Amino acid sequence: LVSRKKKAEDTIVDIKGTKIGDGTPKFVFGPCSVESYEQVAQVAASVQAKGLKLLRGGAFKPRTSPYDFQGLGVEGLKILKRVADEYDLAVISEIVSTEHIETALEYIDVIQIGARNMQNFELLKAAGSVKKPILLKRGLAATIEEFINAAEYIMSQGNDQIILCERGIRTYERATRNTLDISAVPILKQETHLPVFVDVTHSTGRKDLLLPCAKAALAIGADGVMAEVHPDPAVALSDSAQQMDIGQFDEFYRAIQSTPFVKA
Ligand code: PEP
Ligand code: MN
Repeated sequence: LVSRKKKAEDTIVDIKGTKIGDGTPKFVFGPCSVESYEQVAQVAASVQAKGLKLLRGGAFKPRTSPYDFQGLGVEGLKILKRVADEYDLAVISEIVSTEHIETALEYIDVIQIGARNMQNFELLKAAGSVKKPILLKRGLAATIEEFINAAEYIMSQGNDQIILCERGIRTYERATRNTLDISAVPILKQETHLPVFVDVTHSTGRKDLLLPCAKAALAIGADGVMAEVHPDPAVALSDSAQQMDIGQFDEFYRAIQSTPFVKA
């Protein structure tokens, strides 16, 4: 169902009026984790000031260590909803368990399925049964074929509002947190009709690489870019080394806007 052979024209995913995959790049910014109303609202104000519409923030955090911050859970989703209403934004947040899907429908606009759950088939099927756009991230060590099959699981249940997100894969290279598989973008665009995003934060894990990788993503045909922004990354409860602060976010967005492939 996700194959180009089944449907030649691009699928456009509509997120509260923002059309992903319409030929104009879109951007998703926001903190790694939702930590407080004030923290999310500060980022939201900066997103809104740029005329952007999409905000991200993790409420359920799949962390490597059980002793790391696990997220605010449903409380985090409520914060996102409040901020979305106040700043007229749409919000994207990860759901890690089928039991939270129903609740998520009340509070968020896009359900993210994270890298660690890309082959959680029950979660994929549950995401396929709801009427909400899904942002599906590539697994840590998933082939493109496995990634496409994960999207197929969702679509097989009736939900065709799927955005694929390349977020880097695990290789022997340690200069970056993961290896951004930039060629995955045109391959996914050729083989499927779904929009493709690139998460430059989790793929690189390096603030100095966010801009060049975002440019590469858009130049190679990505429909959008995701990056993490925190008002005070030094005290962030997750991914503190790789989130942009508001000043860096302003500079990043100004620079990406002035690249030839971004139509205002
Ligand atoms: C995230 O986007 O918050 C995240 C945890 O990313 P990933 O699933 O790609 O590691
Ligand atoms: Mn993160």
